[in-house]
Amino acid sequence: NSFIAIKHHINGFPVESDFELKSQHLRLSAHPGSADIVLKNLFVSVDPYQIHRMKTPSPSHATSSAAPFITPGQVISVQGVAEVVDSDDPNFEKGDFVKGIIHWAQYSVVKARESALMKLDTLEFPLTYHLGILGMSGLSAYVGLFDVGKVKEGDKVFVSAASGSVGNLVGQFAKLLGCYVVGSAGSDQKVALLKEKLGFDAAFNYNHQKDLKSTLAKYFPNGIDIYFDNVGDEMLEAAVANMNPFGKVVVCGVISDYTKPKPRKGSPINMMEIVYKSITIQGFLVSDYLNVFQDFKSKAASYLRSSKMKAIEDISVGLHNIPSAFIGLFNGNNIGKTIVKIA
Ligand code: NDP
Repeated sequence: NSFIAIKHHINGFPVESDFELKSQHLRLSAHPGSADIVLKNLFVSVDPYQIHRMKTPSPSHATSSAAPFITPGQVISVQGVAEVVDSDDPNFEKGDFVKGIIHWAQYSVVKARESALMKLDTLEFPLTYHLGILGMSGLSAYVGLFDVGKVKEGDKVFVSAASGSVGNLVGQFAKLLGCYVVGSAGSDQKVALLKEKLGFDAAFNYNHQKDLKSTLAKYFPNGIDIYFDNVGDEMLEAAVANMNPFGKVVVCGVISDYTKPKPRKGSPINMMEIVYKSITIQGFLVSDYLNVFQDFKSKAASYLRSSKMKAIEDISVGLHNIPSAFIGLFNGNNIGKTIVKIA
C-alpha cells in the first residue's frame, strides 16, 4: 500500500522535498470479528488546515481534537471518498461507495465510527462533490454565512480567497439569498470566473491594488455588512476599516499566516474601529456544526439539481501529485476545491 507522508515537521512554507511516497504492508481482507472495513481510496481532499497538523507539536500552534498533529513517516488522515473492497462491518459491504476520514494512500483499513464513515446512497452527483460543494467546504460556507454571520437578504458581503473551495460557495450562497457580493482573488483568471460564471456583483485581483482600503471603499460605497475572512492580515484590516456599524467578521481561516514560521503577534486591526462600530468578530470550526449537515446538504443538492449553484473543482491525478496540489494551495494555484484522484 503506497501512501504520502511528511519526512519531518514543516514549520514554514512547504516544499516537495518535505514529503515522501512510502509503502507499507496492509492486509486487504477484513479479519473476522474485527469490524474492519477495507477501502480502495478513490478521491482525497487537500486542505490548507493540514499545514497546522504538520508543524512541530507545540501549545502555541492552534489545532483541534478533530485535527491532531501528524507524525513524520506515518499515514496522513484526510476526508475522502472510497469504495469498500472488503468488510467485517454488517452495515457496509463490498461495492459500497463511502465518504469519511481515510488517508493520503491507495488503501485504508478503517472502522466505521472512528472514520465517521457514511454510505453515499445516491450516485446522483459526481463522487468528488461530496468533498467540496456537498461536503466540508460547502458546510463551512453555509454555517459561516448563516449560523455565524447571520446573513440577511440585501446584506453587503465581502469574501476573500473567493475563488477557493469555501470562498466560491460563500459567494454563491449569498447571491442566492439576494445579497450584494464582492470577492477578492489572486489572479485575473479567478476574478473572471467569479464575475462571469458565479454571478458575483464584482471581484478584484488583490495583487493589482495599491491600497486595499480604498479598493474596498470603491466596491462598497455603502459599507460592508459581513466580511467572510479566509486570509487575515491586510485584507482583514482593510475590511474592518470599511465595515458598517454592527457589521460582522466571520473568521473562517487566516491562510496568510499558515506558512509563516511564527504566528503573527499583535492584531492587524485598529481595535477602536471595533469599539466605535460595534463590530462582532467570530471564528468557527466546521466540525462543531455537523448537526446541520443534513439540512445543508439537502439545500445544496437542490440548488445543484436546479442549476442554481455550480461546483468548481481542481482535480489532479495520482498519489504522487498530492504534495504539489497541497503546496499549490499556498501559492494560489488552485481554483475551487482541491482534490486528488487516487484510483
Ligand atoms: P482554498 O481553496 O481557498 O485555497 C487556498 C487559497 O487561499 C489559494 O487558492 C489562494 O487564493 C489563497 N491564499 C493562499 N495563500 C494566501 C496568502 N498568503 N494570502 C492571501 N490569500 C492566500 O482553500 P479552502 O477553501 O479549503 O480554505 C479557505 C480558508 O478557509 C482557509 O483559511 C482554511 O483554513 C479555512 N477553512 C476553515 C474551516 C473552518 O472550520 N473554520 C473549514 C475549511 C476551511 P488566491 O489566489 O485568491 O490568493
